[in-house]
Amino acid sequence: MDCIFCKIISGEIPAEKVYEDNKVVAFKDINPAAPVHILIVPREHIPSTMELDIERASVVAHIFLIAKKLASEFKISERGFRIVNNCGSEGGQTVNHLHFHLIGGRDMTWPPG
Ligand code: C5P
Repeated sequence: MDCIFCKIISGEIPAEKVYEDNKVVAFKDINPAAPVHILIVPREHIPSTMELDIERASVVAHIFLIAKKLASEFKISERGFRIVNNCGSEGGQTVNHLHFHLIGGRDMTWPPG
């Protein structure tokens, strides 16, 4: 499958991985939007939030627990951080493999652009 995140998960394309287990992989975003910018992705190729179903939804809870753990490790938990999922082209999704951005280390603005 021609998916860049599947290739990162398999090791075919290099990435700075910061966490992995049997369900998810986390790696530093190649184009960081903040001092800490980590992507957390399921190993399974799920194209977007719109393809989630009840059988696979538990991976999202797992991703949030890993985001919490990484926020502590990367020392952004005290001042705060943001977890972002872009869905579809108008939502800003550019890679069609479900992923959550963990972003922190600077003040955030609201609403996002
Ligand atoms: O939510 P969206 O689909 O826009 O996010 C994709 C993210 O994947 C971008 O932030 C981009 O910098 C990142 N990326 C990466 N490594 C790649 C390709 C894309 O970290 N090889």
